[in-house]
Amino acid sequence: MNSQCNLIVFTDLDGTLIDHHSYRFTAALPAIARIKAVSAGLVLASSKTAPEISRLRAEIGCEDWPAIVENGAGVLPPFVDAVPDDGDYRSIRNILAALPAQLRSCFRGFGDVSTAEIVEMTGLSPEAAALAQTRSFSEPGLWSGSAVELDRFLAALAEHGVSAQQGGRFLTLSFGTNKVDQMAKINETYRPAHTIALGDAPNDIAMLEHADHGVIIANPSRPPLPELEPEASGRITRTLEAGPAGWNTAVLDLITQLGIK
Ligand SMILES: [Mg+2]
Repeated sequence: MNSQCNLIVFTDLDGTLIDHHSYRFTAALPAIARIKAVSAGLVLASSKTAPEISRLRAEIGCEDWPAIVENGAGVLPPFVDAVPDDGDYRSIRNILAALPAQLRSCFRGFGDVSTAEIVEMTGLSPEAAALAQTRSFSEPGLWSGSAVELDRFLAALAEHGVSAQQGGRFLTLSFGTNKVDQMAKINETYRPAHTIALGDAPNDIAMLEHADHGVIIANPSRPPLPELEPEASGRITRTLEAGPAGWNTAVLDLITQLGIK
């Protein structure tokens, strides 16, 4: 039983383990190999859907660990390529369908449009857009109504337990769990002696703060994150190199510092 382990590394993908431009993680291979060599865990945590993450998880070779999908709205269990269908996505779609037509018409969700329109909305390839549309726990969409209508929309959803997170582009509806909630559940299950979290964006901050050691990965494509309080004590650090190269150096250094063999 995997009830105790030495270390779990929780990581964001885009701009963190995966290069922002090339979508490759080659530069992080030495640290990934080290994680495996010391029998530590590697948990991917991203806004991606289960079919998107399962493919990457197999490439990275950490399919023996759960992955946090759809920004923490759900978890992909180890060794499977699909999540058990507990009906969250269908429930959100049904709650949307029952809203007053005028409010409903202001929200254009991934489930309302064709894959070709997802390609237009996101810039993803048609194949990637189809995977992004294969959702289990949350519904991203574009809001086209007024701020007053948005308040009414959010209040109506809240009555059914649905909450919304505004990202850079999409308003994402879910039953409210986030990356940190799932991280805490995984820690309860595996009881790691140490945890490391790595991320590059505002939606990673809570995960970085929750870990024993947080690493902000440099991303020259976006404004740097504000100074976080745990940086003063060194509990959270920043990399100089961007993406997987920074990830590689930070993980190798921390495993050495922690004396994990
Ligand atoms: Mg990112």
